[in-house]
Amino acid sequence: MLNFEFKNPTKILFGKGEIAKISKEIPQDARILMIYGGGSIKNNGIYDQVKDALKNHDMHEFGGVPANPEYEVLVKALQYIKENNINYLLAVGGGSVIDGVKFLSAAANYDGEPWEILTKPVRTMEGKGMPFGTVLTLPATGSEMNSGYVISRRETNEKLSSGGPGLFPQFSVLDPEVVRSIPKNQIANGIADAYTHVLEQYMTAPSSADLQERIAESILISLQNAAPKVMADDFDYDAAANFMWCCTMALNGLIQKGVITDWAVHAIGHELTAHYGIDHARTLAVIAPSHYRYNFETKKGKLAQYAERVWGISEGSTEEKAEKAITRLEEFFHSLEINTKLSEYTEDFAGTAEKIERTFTDRNWLGLGENKNLTPKDVYKIVEMSY
Ligand code: NAP
Ligand code: FE
Repeated sequence: MLNFEFKNPTKILFGKGEIAKISKEIPQDARILMIYGGGSIKNNGIYDQVKDALKNHDMHEFGGVPANPEYEVLVKALQYIKENNINYLLAVGGGSVIDGVKFLSAAANYDGEPWEILTKPVRTMEGKGMPFGTVLTLPATGSEMNSGYVISRRETNEKLSSGGPGLFPQFSVLDPEVVRSIPKNQIANGIADAYTHVLEQYMTAPSSADLQERIAESILISLQNAAPKVMADDFDYDAAANFMWCCTMALNGLIQKGVITDWAVHAIGHELTAHYGIDHARTLAVIAPSHYRYNFETKKGKLAQYAERVWGISEGSTEEKAEKAITRLEEFFHSLEINTKLSEYTEDFAGTAEKIERTFTDRNWLGLGENKNLTPKDVYKIVEMSY
């Protein structure tokens, strides 16, 4: 097992009715900016619950953060923060709103051009970000209990990530009741995103980190168990609760400690969102199977272990089990009504793989994946395979 340090300071308030408790988590004299997305919170009652919980606080509002949070919108929020001496941020939304708030937390105390935080990128150290909390409305990204974020810039078709230990939320409220109002396609996205987060930290060469691997496998199995129940028409609180906690546990740092991680699927997937606007999770379902087929030799040991322990496939050679594992993964995405071929999302493919290859070369992203040896040419081939 590799050496590691682990610190996750985010306090979780989990369960029905927990939103009412947030007033105790935010200093009474804070000047709060509540930030939210396109308005779903006004239709499902979450907005009213938050307003009610903080009725004795000084709270301002900034709505309209779009999915795949946009730099252009966030700089307006940044201006509001500076002009109104805001000193506490509250994200009420999914990964997009939470990521947007992390960027604002970092940018509020940064003296240079804010976009540099993403291009350099600048890590935000402890005590350097503006304090913030979150009320999660969409289980998926794990952003509610980690310190990373992803921001898009429409004018340049870029989607870049940054982070740092100063960007953990102080608290996050996880009330599974929020799942009631989430459209089915977004629930499917949430399952696929969290599932792929686990795979990015697990689908590497076999390691000696037995506990991390078994926790990862448990999260995958629990997501598989919850999936049909949270996709069904009737609301099932316990399935929603399991789904929600799996998403958080998938990316709060625990399972990546002491192991080698991959993250190439996300790096490539982000380009498909930047080019085509395809939902984040769906880009992962497109890239993951091709990535695993392209890197079959390196990954077949763990793919076979995944087949055995997660899907109960005990027959066959390592190669046969590994191949079945990739097919099972595709079938799992299909069971969520998520397509796994880029051709099912766009016909406008000509030149895309070349463009992504060039972008990665220009950014000096010359070695991706678990062994940091996937070149932009390999990325080109993976994108070609995914079409
Ligand atoms: P999202 O973009 O935050 O939200 C997707 C949609 O769901 C929005 O239209 C939103 O509507 C709606 N929605 C949210 N909660 C709802 C509810 N309770 N009821 C009904 N509708 C609801 O989705 P996400 O998947 O959570 O976030 C995706 C972003 O996170 C991407 O940019 C991705 O790159 C990033 N990401 C971050 C991390 C990380 O660790 N930081 C990891 C993976 C991905 P409204 O806008 O109207 O609220
Ligand atoms: Fe993700």
